[in-house]
Amino acid sequence: MELNRWFRKDILELQPYRCAREEWEAEEAILLDANENPLDPSAQGLNRYPHPLHPRLRQAIARWKQVPGESLFLGNGSDEAIDLLIRATCRPYRDEVLVLPPTYGMYALLARIQSVSVRTVPLNAAFQPEPEAILRQAGNRTRLLFLCSPNNPTGNLLEEDRVDFLLRHFPGLVILDEAYIDFADQPGWLNRLEAYPNLVILQTFSKAMGLAGARLGMAFAHPNIVAVLNRIKFPYNVSRLAARAALTALKRLPAVSESISAVRRERSRLACSLRKLTLVEQVYPSQANFLLVRFRDARAVFQALQARRIVVRDRSLLPGCENCLRITVGSREQNQYLIHTLQTLEATS
Ligand code: PMP
Repeated sequence: MELNRWFRKDILELQPYRCAREEWEAEEAILLDANENPLDPSAQGLNRYPHPLHPRLRQAIARWKQVPGESLFLGNGSDEAIDLLIRATCRPYRDEVLVLPPTYGMYALLARIQSVSVRTVPLNAAFQPEPEAILRQAGNRTRLLFLCSPNNPTGNLLEEDRVDFLLRHFPGLVILDEAYIDFADQPGWLNRLEAYPNLVILQTFSKAMGLAGARLGMAFAHPNIVAVLNRIKFPYNVSRLAARAALTALKRLPAVSESISAVRRERSRLACSLRKLTLVEQVYPSQANFLLVRFRDARAVFQALQARRIVVRDRSLLPGCENCLRITVGSREQNQYLIHTLQTLEATS
């Protein structure tokens, strides 16, 4: 492994904060180590700090995803994993990351917050990465490459041979963000994790699992990479509430998968209805739970929808997304209301 090349030297040398309790199961001991309230006055079973690594949840997720528990990092949303990966690999004012717009905005933002510069190589007209151009931009201070598949906001999967080429030739870590993979026709890269030592896959409980409010994200990578992230995270980054919610969701996987099918069905219906509108120029094919839609006048549509209390995302300032709104697939009723509103707008404009 090339941990020394990928990660900051000072991070690899850090002595992490240790909780006195890590060796103890809460039930077995008298816990006088962490300055908590022993009496649980709010009666929610939350008076004790959680285990820093959530062994029970980790085991349940590892079994579900069929990966070793040591290959899994649990974070406060996958945003936390993105932030930690940048901080663990990039020295402020010196190193840089590579981002392929149009894509999820937090990669670049979290880098800039850390005073890490961002190189961009736009996706091509089909919203696919151009490996040669990307590798040409990768200098010896380029630590991370962010790929997002299905990509936000364009909704498409990245082609396998392009991702494979980048994984084999990019000199740093490749972060493959699969936040939306459960809505796609293809399974994603998790079962190929072991073939690529520099691959970090991000997934989340916020989308298909329906737990955006709980904040729980996952990073899958070689155990040595996961160990670095665990050393630098806040000791109690994932709350007991989040872990409890996730364990409950894992007992309800049939309901989750039913909801994924419903969203996928609604996605086709919504795309179909949108394509019939003359306000709409193009509905991009989507493997996620949203649609990127090019309108004749996105600004006007955005404002008209807002006036009717429908909130969508204006993505028209992103390269390649001129006049585009990103619309999350809602419930059947919500989508019908949206289409009805757009039809009325069309009739009156
Ligand atoms: N990656 C992508 C591509 C996203 O769209 C989002 C949320 N919009 C995230 C990561 C972050 O998700 P979370 O922090 O809720 O896990």
